[in-house]
Amino acid sequence: MPKRIETVVFHDSSTPVIGGIEKAGVVVVAPLESILNQARANALWPLTFGLACCAIEMMSTVAARFDLARFGSEAFRATPRQADVMIIAGRLSKKMAPVLRQIYDQMPEPKWVISMGACASSGGVYNNYAIVQGADQVVPVDVYVPGCPPSPDALIYAVMKLQQKIKHRKFGKLIELKPRSLDEESA
Ligand code: SF4
Repeated sequence: MPKRIETVVFHDSSTPVIGGIEKAGVVVVAPLESILNQARANALWPLTFGLACCAIEMMSTVAARFDLARFGSEAFRATPRQADVMIIAGRLSKKMAPVLRQIYDQMPEPKWVISMGACASSGGVYNNYAIVQGADQVVPVDVYVPGCPPSPDALIYAVMKLQQKIKHRKFGKLIELKPRSLDEESA
C-alpha cells in the first residue's frame, strides 16, 4: 500500500522556525506542504506583463520608495517559463486576450494571477467592443486590485493576500509519493 510522506525532520537547531511548525528541542518537525507553501509564498516571481497605465504603478512597486523586495517578489521575469505569478496591469483588449492566455499556459504550475486595476478586473471605463470586461473571462484570477489606478501600496497588499492564500494551500493528492516496494528495495 503506498505510503504518504507528511513530515520532514531537520536535525539542526539553526533551522529557521516556519509558521505552523512544531518545535521539540533541537528537532523541528513540519508538514511537507507547509514548507513548500512557505517557500513558494515568499519567493514569488512575477511575470512582466504591463498592458496600460497601471503598469507604471506596477513598476513603482519595485523601485526604492515601495520596494517589493521586502516581500520576496521583486524578481520580475521576461519569460513565462521562469514566472509563477502573472500581474495583469491594465486594460485587456480582445486582440491581446489570446496572447495573454498563451503566455499564461506557458507558465509552469503552480501559478497564480493578480488582476490589477478596474480595467483588468471589469473593463473599467472602457465598456466597449474592444476591451475584455474582466480578465477572469480569459484566465483564472486569484486576487483583484481595485482602483484607477491602484497605488503601488495596493499592489503590495494584493501580493501579501496572495501569499496568505498560498500558505494555506492544500496539496491533496499532489504530493502522494509512491515508495518502492520491499521486493524492489531488496533487489
Ligand atoms: S485602471 Fe485606470 S490606470 Fe489602470 S489601466 Fe485602467 S485607466 Fe489605466
